[in-house]
Amino acid sequence: MAGKDYYGVLGIPKGASDKDVKSAYRKLARKYHPDVNPGDKGAEARFKEINEAFEVLSDAEKRKKYDQYGSDFENQEAFARARQQAQQQYQSYGRGGGGTPFTTYETADMGDLNEVFESLFKGFGQGGARGGRRAPKRGRDIEHPVEVTLEEAFNGTKRVMELQSEQPCPSCQGMGRTKAGVCQMCRGAGRVIKPRRLEVKIPAGVKEGSRVRIAGEGEQGMGGSPGDLYLLIKVAPHPMFKREGDDLLVDVPVSLASAVLGGEVQVPTLRGSKLALRIPPETQNGKVFKLSKQGMPRLGDSSRGDMLARMAVVLPTNLNDKERALFEQFRSMRPN
Ligand SMILES: [Zn+2]
Repeated sequence: MAGKDYYGVLGIPKGASDKDVKSAYRKLARKYHPDVNPGDKGAEARFKEINEAFEVLSDAEKRKKYDQYGSDFENQEAFARARQQAQQQYQSYGRGGGGTPFTTYETADMGDLNEVFESLFKGFGQGGARGGRRAPKRGRDIEHPVEVTLEEAFNGTKRVMELQSEQPCPSCQGMGRTKAGVCQMCRGAGRVIKPRRLEVKIPAGVKEGSRVRIAGEGEQGMGGSPGDLYLLIKVAPHPMFKREGDDLLVDVPVSLASAVLGGEVQVPTLRGSKLALRIPPETQNGKVFKLSKQGMPRLGDSSRGDMLARMAVVLPTNLNDKERALFEQFRSMRPN
């Protein structure tokens, strides 16, 4: 890999002091600064080169690595580390000896092993600013909690989500480096956090703990497909309706006269409308009537649960004299 000559770029010898590096940089940066050379592409390229050289040579750690590995030191170093690890592993396998399956390694040629690692790390070693391709990687899935009311779970609803997702850095295309050195936008991470708004549809029938998958709205992949967004559903309790699986239980007030003589009661629904229910004479308090297919919709299915209407007999209050007389008359006929 032909490295760049950073010392040559700054016009200084290899052993130049930090002070020399700085003064050479200052002089050249002033000369080739884009503000001083508007529209001059040659000067612009030179300015970038100077900055790249300075970034490395002004940093003791980077300069040391550059001196050892050349301008591709970041990749080279990782490669060297991987190879060293492989060799250490190889050596410990070799020492294992004594009839273990690893004894065969003792006859392996180190050169072969290096070759294996070179091919393994090929994409990696040639990556970076050179635009080499890494293996496509699918984006990660994102999970996001969403609380809905029972009405929303009944009817289905929409939400606008404010998401923060990691995306490949647009400045360096996820490489972490640009021609001018470590990417300034992502500081070498290759990824940036981007807020975004997304309208999502929450289907009718979701339950507490439902996971609604919004395909392709997870994190962006690195050359692979994006991950998925999962909405983790929480359903807020309802003051009137109790959900029992796909059924809905609701208490329906019934007057004493209707309970005794039979009549019609109004059963509330999550749509807001009411359903008329005829009840027979002598309906007991707590009796449950089933209204078929008036319950919760089933997720991903056109069927529904039932509505369970539980009778709650309401005894009369504030009786007038005539009403009290009637109850006394009733009691005299049914003393127990
Ligand atoms: Zn970047």
